Amino acid sequence: VNMLTWPVAVVGWLTSIVQRAEASQKRINEFLKEEPSIKNQVKKPTPIIGGIEFRNVTFTYEDTNITALKNVSFTVEAGQTVAILGKTGAGKSTILDLVARLYDTSSGEVLIDGIPVQQLNLDSLRSSIGAVPQDAFLFSDTIENNIRFGNENATHNDIVEVAKKAVVHKNIQGFAKKYNTVLGERGITLSGGQKQRVSIARALLKDPKIYLFDDCLSAVDTETEEEILNNLKRVSESKTTLIVSHRVSSAKNADKIIVLDNGSIIQEGTHEELNNTEGYYKDLYINQLSGKDS
Ligand code: ADP
Repeated sequence: VNMLTWPVAVVGWLTSIVQRAEASQKRINEFLKEEPSIKNQVKKPTPIIGGIEFRNVTFTYEDTNITALKNVSFTVEAGQTVAILGKTGAGKSTILDLVARLYDTSSGEVLIDGIPVQQLNLDSLRSSIGAVPQDAFLFSDTIENNIRFGNENATHNDIVEVAKKAVVHKNIQGFAKKYNTVLGERGITLSGGQKQRVSIARALLKDPKIYLFDDCLSAVDTETEEEILNNLKRVSESKTTLIVSHRVSSAKNADKIIVLDNGSIIQEGTHEELNNTEGYYKDLYINQLSGKDS
């Protein structure tokens, strides 16, 4: 980059950071704004095992009038891992949002353990879910406290253990103040991949029944991704896991893969099945194998 163009590049980079921060702030504001419309009608706590079913779910965002999901039906047995693939805007994140009941469906039903989510105690539902969003939300606080947010009662050793599983322990050990390193405005800035891994550690610490991973390995290199996935496989054996991804590498070991396009399911099956069928999954697999698209 020559001396004339680099300031332009830097401004572009800063703008994109600010826009990204604004975008995630917008999502949080929307979430807070939306929350009153979701009512906790059930006062008694509900025990949750973790089976998920979408029954003919259609969902339209009221403010944009975009129908993000159209007649979507699928089941996830408690303890299964299901990968959700598809282009940007296909409706993947919306599926996760409906599981956590950030919104209610426009028609059709989301059921947990066979019970419509509206009939579950909202706190029971939310506390049984560990969600890792696309843009990890970290506080201006120590790394230790950022992970502890997943479980206030955790000990330092618990935190180290989940950081190891999320393959971020070594990075943290490399900082002068280790787990006491402060993040954010007064502290250091983590790379995108490090943020994602801290956010995964936080979810692991919560030890929930259901994991919702929203493309949360996108900034992690494929080798580290594989290591994390192997660790997750061990901890999530008895957990229901929905993992949204753009990469076949995150999907191929799932019990089931669902491909969404424009709000509808266009493919559903195992890696073996989808890889033997012409379509989105096979094309993606071939592209990513040859390294054209990762
Ligand atoms: P994906 O996760 O596959 O990229 P999303 O579920 O985020 O897809 O989005 C599906 C569609 O819904 C897109 O057209 C998107 O623009 C729209 N959408 C997503 N979130 C919102 C929102 N909070 N308000 C209005 N429209 C939204």
